[in-house]
Formats: sequence, structure tokens, C-alpha cells
Amino acid sequence: MAKIAINIATGTLEQKEVIVGIDLGTTNSLVAIIHPETKQPIALKDIDQTTLVPSLLHFGAHGEMHVGNEAKLYLKTDSSNTIYSVKRLLGKNYNDLKNTQKLSYKIIDNETDSLVKIQVGDLFFSPIELSSFILKELKHRAEHVLKMNVSKCVITVPAFFNDAQRQATRDAGKLAGLEVLRIINEPTAASLAYGIGTKSDETKNVAVYDLGGGTFDVSILKITDGIFDVVSTHGDTYLGGDDFDNEIVQHFTQQLGLTNDEFQSNANLISILRLEAESAKKHLSSNDVYESTVMDKRVSITQSEFENAIQSLVDKTIDSCATALKESELTTEEIDVVVMVGGSTRVPYVKKRVSAFFKKQVNDSVNPDEVVALGAAIQADILAGNNKEVLLLDITPLSLGIETMGGLMDVLIPRNSKIPSRAGRQYTTQKDGQSSMRIAVYQGERDLVSDNRKLAEFNLTGIPGMPAGLPKVDIQFLINADGILKVKATELRSGVEQIIEVKPQYGLTDEEVENMLMASITNAKEDIQLRSLIEATTEGQTQIEFTQNFLSKHKQYITEEELLATENAILEIKKAIDAKDKNAIMAANESLNTISSPYAERVMDIAIAEAMKGKKV
Ligand code: AMP
Repeated sequence: MAKIAINIATGTLEQKEVIVGIDLGTTNSLVAIIHPETKQPIALKDIDQTTLVPSLLHFGAHGEMHVGNEAKLYLKTDSSNTIYSVKRLLGKNYNDLKNTQKLSYKIIDNETDSLVKIQVGDLFFSPIELSSFILKELKHRAEHVLKMNVSKCVITVPAFFNDAQRQATRDAGKLAGLEVLRIINEPTAASLAYGIGTKSDETKNVAVYDLGGGTFDVSILKITDGIFDVVSTHGDTYLGGDDFDNEIVQHFTQQLGLTNDEFQSNANLISILRLEAESAKKHLSSNDVYESTVMDKRVSITQSEFENAIQSLVDKTIDSCATALKESELTTEEIDVVVMVGGSTRVPYVKKRVSAFFKKQVNDSVNPDEVVALGAAIQADILAGNNKEVLLLDITPLSLGIETMGGLMDVLIPRNSKIPSRAGRQYTTQKDGQSSMRIAVYQGERDLVSDNRKLAEFNLTGIPGMPAGLPKVDIQFLINADGILKVKATELRSGVEQIIEVKPQYGLTDEEVENMLMASITNAKEDIQLRSLIEATTEGQTQIEFTQNFLSKHKQYITEEELLATENAILEIKKAIDAKDKNAIMAANESLNTISSPYAERVMDIAIAEAMKGKKV
């Protein structure tokens, strides 16, 4: 593990408590605080003087785990056990990932709606667990530097993150032993770092252009009286500085006179040229030409050759700016400030194009790799009550949600959401012909509803008889400015509807709220382990029920051998469920899936063929 040096200007830190700001990135993550003396935000550095922790994890053959720079060493040598880009998987199910790029590690693919899992050897991890390992590393780093316990934080997420992705980020924080006081949007954090919107009577329209290593997005914010409203956001989750590098690699390949095949078949050469390309790109950010030697031959690239090579990529980002601006119903003249975020905005051509589009100078004085974390630290300081000049909006003190299968809490409005607030999600029935659905509303931070506080319960009745999974029950939570929660449940196919009103804060003292929060932190690890065990168990039981149902209908098409293998696999799941072993249940689920997929496909083909027979095409 890398040693950490104290890099905060001299003097001891005598703060009792610190709330850190965390940028949990796709490629790199970092942690920042407000310096207790200078009152300026700073990113915490390790002994190599780098603030960035690569968002990478490597799992060794003997169960050892490497995080950050240590894991980077294995990216090429042991790629199937090195996990990168976890942020792309947070809160996603298999269907969400259908059209995305392949990763070099194993994602369990059983084409269901449940959240993805990652398999490394015999171990199964959720993206939440993996993200928590990175957050834990950041927590340790902060504790090392600050020489104090760090348990509270603000974490940033892209503006386009949905409810599930935000909740997954919260859970990851919780699992890392951090109380996530607030999840804030990355463009909001970047604006805060430039001091935009920190005065209570300020009204500003801001464009935040964020071009990193592998992702791009642009957001338009309307800031009024301390309220940061992301009015539109657009981008490409697979566009960034890596693509610039690829263009330079192609340029060098041509200079070296290599054919594409010669290049593709030489893994060593690919990595040498990629490194050369990144050096060239960085060099060109402050020089006109780059020259070097590869395989005893000279390679070079000039500023204008580079600009030509990346022009179409930058065009795409400018198109996104135009789309986001159109959606915000603002004109370029109405945008007051443009803020640059992400390492790739150091490229002068990128700055030039963005500046030309918005017809104004861009803000690039803050380090674009750190700007988001620095803004998160400013937000953390506001929450800590140290920055009284900034308006803090009224917020929900505890999370609000409903009970789902297995007695789990499904949060719809997370704690610290601003009031008024609205959130909704769709649910379905578990049994064929189910005509009513019990909706129990809870408040609290624990994963099991039995540990939280029940606010209300009601039945949505009159759902027309349909097979399980077909009804669509939409549940909407609406908290008005007085903190009154309205819960509305509607079965969308039939229009059956029910509404109730609850007062979430009623009867809770500040001390009780504090106790509930403390309990959620103290029990976070057990809670999340229990949650994943319940989720794996529910998945196993559903799979058993589904398979048995399938077998009873299509037994004639299934061989004796397949039947026997299926029965054994079912037995394995049952055994693992009895043993309450999450990894074993998931492994058994996976093996039942492998056994049943071939005959399920075969039966489907037969069914289609039979259906076609009766019809003249
Ligand atoms: P981020 O994802 O925000 O950390 O951005 C990382 C990307 O920024 C990588 O593609 C880097 O190669 C790129 N980058 C870092 N420094 C520079 C620089 N001086 N000039 C151009 N690109 C850079």
C-alpha cells in the first residue's frame, strides 16, 4: 500500500470533524477538503504528489486486493482480474449494458432485469461493493493525511445519473463506512469550485463542458438564489481523451509504414504507441510539435496535424453543446459562464472550439482533474455549517421508501434531498392473478424495513387479474414545501389508483433522527451483506420456481440428462440458500442458468416452428 505524505501546508490540523468531498470517477477518483487555515479547497495528495487515485481494483490469486496505482500494474498483465470503469456499471442491469462496449473482466450475463454482478474467480461482487473498495481507499488516504477519523462525505455523480445509480453510489459510500451527506451533480460541484452561485441573490446560467479520458458530457445549469438546477444535459459515454490518443496512434502507424494487420498483431507495439500518443497529446497542449523515436524510426506530429486528426471528435462534442443548449431553451448570449472540467479540456483546440461556440472565454483556471472534487469539498463545508454565507435548502432528514421483496427498503427519496421533491418508480406483482398490492412506506437509512420507521401502509386494490410481472404499479412520492409526503399508487394498465398523505417528520426529535443515522453507519456492513444475501436468495427462489414451471410445461423436449442436471442444480441452490452463503447461491444460480439456457432456447425454437407451421407465410 502506498505511503501517504502530509501535503497540507505546515501546521497541525485541529479540526474535530471534517466532511470530505469525493469525486468518484470512471477513470480516476480523488478526495478534497477545505483547508482549515486557508479556507481554500485542496485535493489530498499521496507521496508521489498525485491527487488522482486510478479507479482500478485487482484481485490476486490468494484473495489479496490492490486498489488504485497498485492495481494499475495488473491492467495489462492480468486483465481478467483487474476491474476498471465500475462507475459505468453502477445501478445498471443486463439490459442496460446490451449495447455497450465489452469489458475484459467477467460480467454475469443472464439477461434479466436484476442488477449486474461481476465474477472474479470464485467471488461475486456487485458494482456497489467494488465502488466501496475505491471509496474505502479514499477514506484511508484522507485519514492518513488528516490524522483523524473521516466518516462523512459528499460524493459527486454525473447529472444524467438516474435514481438507481445515485442510490447505488450512496450504498457504496455506506459500505465503505462513510455517511453520504449528499450526492451532488458534477456540474454543480464544478460551478461551486469557481465560486458561481454561492451568493444568495445571484442568478446565473452556466454551461459545464466535461471531457475526460473516456466520457463526455455537457450540462446547462440555471442557478437562482443558491438553487442549482440542471436544466439539460447531453453527451457521449464513450468519447474522450483515449479517442484522441487513438487518432495519434494511427498517425504514427502511417509514419512508420505499418499496415493495420502488422500493428494489430503486435501487442507490445500497440502499448508502446499508445503511451507515445498520450505523451504527444500532452506535449502538444503547450508546444507546437512533438518528436520521438519508435523502433529506431522518427515519429512526429504537429499541432495542426493533431487538430485535423481530432476535429471530427471535437465536432461531436460541439453538436452535444448545441443540443443541450436547445433543450435548455437558452441562447449562447444568455449563457453567463462556461466552465471546463476533465483532463482533456487541457487541449487548446478543445478550448478554442468551446469558446467559439459559446462566444465567450472559458473558465479553465482551476485544475480540470480536481475541479469537481474541490466543489464537493465546498459543498461539504457548507453542510458542516462552516460557510454560513451560502444558502442551504430545506432537506429531508431521513430517506423515504417502500418495502419490497424480502423485507428490503427501496429508497425513493434519499435523505438530504431538497424539499419540495418528487420521485417515482414502477413495481409489479409476484403472483399470477394478484388483485391487490400492499404498499408500506418507511423512513430511515437501514437496508431492512424492520430496522426503519413505518410511516404508513395501504392496499392498492382492484388490480385486474393478470399473470405475475405484467401489471405496472407506478408509485410516486411527492413531498411538498411543508414536508408532507403524498404517496400515490397507480396500476398503469387499468388506471386503478390510490393516494395517501403522511407527515414524515412528525413525532421524531433531532436526537431520534441522529440515532437512526448512527445505527445505519454502525450496521452498514452487516446491512449490505444481508441485503445482498436476500437479493441472491430471492433470485435463486424465483429461478427455481420459473424453472420448475417451465419443466412441467415442456418436459417432453428435455433429455433425461438435462433433467438430472437441472434437479441437481436446483438442489445446489437450495443447499446454498439454507447455508446462507451469498457467493455459493450466486454460483449455483449461475450454474442452473448455464444448464437451462440451451434447452430453454431449443424449446423456444420448437414453439416458434410449430406456430409457423399452422400459418401460410
Ligand atoms: P480525466 O478522466 O478527467 O481524469 O481525464 C483524463 C484524460 O485527460 C486522459 O485522456 C489524459 O490523457 C488527458 N490529459 C491529461 N493531461 C492532459 C494534457 N496536458 N493535455 C491533454 N490531455 C490531457
